[in-house]
Amino acid sequence: MTDYWIGAHVSASGGVENAPDNAAAIGANAFALFTKNQRRWEAKPLTPQSIEAFQRRCEDYGFQPEQILPHDSYLINLGHPDAEALEKSRHAFKDEMQRCQQLGLSLLNFHPGSHLREISESACLQRIADSINLALESSTGVCAVIEATAGQGSNLGYRFEQLAEIIDQVEDQTRVGVCLDTCHIFAAGYDLRSPQACAQTFDEFASIVGFQYLKAMHLNDSKGGLGSRIDRHQCLGQGEIGWDVFRYLMRDTRFQKMPLILETLEPERWTEEIQQLRRFAADPQA
Ligand SMILES: [Zn+2]
Ligand SMILES: [Zn+2]
Repeated sequence: MTDYWIGAHVSASGGVENAPDNAAAIGANAFALFTKNQRRWEAKPLTPQSIEAFQRRCEDYGFQPEQILPHDSYLINLGHPDAEALEKSRHAFKDEMQRCQQLGLSLLNFHPGSHLREISESACLQRIADSINLALESSTGVCAVIEATAGQGSNLGYRFEQLAEIIDQVEDQTRVGVCLDTCHIFAAGYDLRSPQACAQTFDEFASIVGFQYLKAMHLNDSKGGLGSRIDRHQCLGQGEIGWDVFRYLMRDTRFQKMPLILETLEPERWTEEIQQLRRFAADPQA
């Protein structure tokens, strides 16, 4: 049961070193965080004191680097059609990678990018892959984890084929991976509402992308319906997906030993949601 690493995207307000405390407080054995303000381009470098405190607290609580899933800024678009804007995003993404490296972390979760209806899908996917290549060249030890999206607006990464197309063009495939968000893939059209539907969706993922690339999951129910392409998270069991997928994940060893991160609507329910997930893992009747 401890092989399931379950947590939430917790606040790092006041400094990254506060995130491990916030994760421990909800009974998590994994967590996600922003290493800088996610709505700003610029950030002050991490101070040695902050890095040291973060690492010490992670060690105290028993959070290993592979149980921690930093998320990059929402402003970054690694597939931007405009050369100058693309450069700005690539620069910011490199900085995100370096912050992770400084913290001793091994993963960085990001949204692939958007073509803004100005370039073709395949041109945008190629830009995203090139952006990943540049970021990997300028850092060591951090894996770039592409998040599957709901396909809202002109965001790519909503089909498993698109994720595979990006990965195919990455030079160092040992340092690229995927994060599946249950809300996003459901909104993108992959059914998860029954054990049979889950089996079919994850079989498709296995054959098109491959489980060797699955590095993390976001666990969210969805306000939008199947194929709605709407990215609106809901508390577990309260949305259009329901409980079956979360039972399914907690009983399939392919989802062990990776961060399983809640981004559900009500942080005050995270403790309870984590406990419910653990019950599914422990008790086949739950
Ligand atoms: Zn997500
Ligand atoms: Zn989302």
